[in-house]
Amino acid sequence: MAGRYPTAADFTSVIHGLRLLSSGGTLTFDEIRTATPAIGASKIRVMLTVLKQAGLIRERRVPRFEMTPRLFAESVESVAAAYDERRQRDHTKLEQMVVYAQTALCRTAALLDALGETGVDRCGTCDNCCGTAIRGEAVAQGAA
Ligand SMILES: [Zn+2]
Repeated sequence: MAGRYPTAADFTSVIHGLRLLSSGGTLTFDEIRTATPAIGASKIRVMLTVLKQAGLIRERRVPRFEMTPRLFAESVESVAAAYDERRQRDHTKLEQMVVYAQTALCRTAALLDALGETGVDRCGTCDNCCGTAIRGEAVAQGAA
């Protein structure tokens, strides 16, 4: 999972690349990739989406990206920090999902517990209650 998330350093590289290459014009995705060969395409896509949401670039007639004046003025750190905050929130959600997937307890009780409801121990119908749950490392490894 960690490899999917761009770091602050990745943001710095991409933003510097965009500033250097664009000279106020537009760029295609391939041109942006060429500017930052060390960063994977999916990470670049994530970062372009973040920059777009922050109003630093615009997506023109696909697939061209236009740099806005803000890209050259805004501090890179604020965009990276805001993204990182969101990433941490996503991570918490992911961890909750992993706990849910790995629990040996009643899933209905686990869900209700997560929602703040107590009082259910066993629903009697979920895979854990019926003893048919597929346990294993596969789930844990796939999410790590
Ligand atoms: Zn159950």
